[in-house]
Amino acid sequence: MSIIGSRELIRDINEKTILKTIFLEKQIDRASLARKTGLSSGTVTKIVSSLIQKGLIVEMGESDSTGGRKPILLCINKDYGSILGVKVGVGYLYIMITNLNGDVLAKSRLDYGEEADPINISNIIKNYVEEQNKNSLVGIAVAVSGTVDPVKGVVLDSFLLNWKNVKFASLIKKVLKAPVYLINDVDSFTIAHLWKGKLVNYKNALVITLGTGIGGSMVVDGELYTGNGGAGEFGHMTIIDKGNKCSCGNQGCLEAEAGFDALATKIYERTKSIALKEAYRNYKNLETSQIDFLKLALKEDEKIFKKVFDEYSYIIGIAIKNLINIYAPECILIGGEALEFSQYFLEKSIKFAKTAAFGNLGERVTFEIDNLGADAWILGGIYKVIQEEIFYVDIQKNG
Ligand SMILES: [Zn+2]
Repeated sequence: MSIIGSRELIRDINEKTILKTIFLEKQIDRASLARKTGLSSGTVTKIVSSLIQKGLIVEMGESDSTGGRKPILLCINKDYGSILGVKVGVGYLYIMITNLNGDVLAKSRLDYGEEADPINISNIIKNYVEEQNKNSLVGIAVAVSGTVDPVKGVVLDSFLLNWKNVKFASLIKKVLKAPVYLINDVDSFTIAHLWKGKLVNYKNALVITLGTGIGGSMVVDGELYTGNGGAGEFGHMTIIDKGNKCSCGNQGCLEAEAGFDALATKIYERTKSIALKEAYRNYKNLETSQIDFLKLALKEDEKIFKKVFDEYSYIIGIAIKNLINIYAPECILIGGEALEFSQYFLEKSIKFAKTAAFGNLGERVTFEIDNLGADAWILGGIYKVIQEEIFYVDIQKNG
């Protein structure tokens, strides 16, 4: 690295540090900024002027101060650009556009049919962005189930979408001409909660999402733990020997025994309701139709529905108990589409897990329930775009 190169690098790092501090503090005056970053007030003043000129930050209001001149507060210019976020679900896209604060400017749920064709999906996304005609795109976040290579922009394995080594980032980049970041959907869910949801105040936590798939992730020391890539596939721990066949190729995984499809099939096998049998035969393997089927089951055969959800509460309880014994988390955050039916299982699952966990580990866990809803699947990806495009310093490029 040359000396000139490193001077530029230091300037760049200082600039990003200031941006990040303003972003995290939401609003801050110049003197506090110098204190927080450890930079001299001269450096802060110079960098802040340049950032205002670039349109990345703006001055606003005055902070409370006793006596003397009130300092001016700085905050991120939330309208500097917009960010597109997409969750590719089973049969649908959940898509939103936000500003730099993560405030939602537009959102929509678009069905794409039974086959998750990457080219068709990229065209649907392109059309949506053209219709919305929002501010210029700073970047795009795409959340999918399964494992991704964020650096190469490749979906390595998404069993639910039936994707293997799909170069999805370059497909989207081709039609929308903005940087694209791929992220696992449960990781996105978790980062969203660390940013502006239920995990803001926790250092060590687990996340488990229940729906068509069962996903998980871990927070260690306030950060998402990714292991060697792909950590937290709680849905694929074996819980029944030689059980149902799973989308991952194994048998008896938690997801195969307690995903929506397993619940629907159990109801179909046991019910005597002709309407339900008929509905199951016409049932498509999509998350929306699975939820509709379960709702119909509650209406048509409440007894069987409740029995199946009783068993479900037990299976989920076992899984959570095992996770508590391994991780001893401060908090377990539960999310996913199954929360729509939470009154039929959640309390029982938590009670079982708390009682059955080792020693007093269960009593020490605080359970939190998702409050961001479907937005969480995308907001974490949007945070990642902000981080990479606004705060991150590319040392290779600068060196
Ligand atoms: Zn599996």
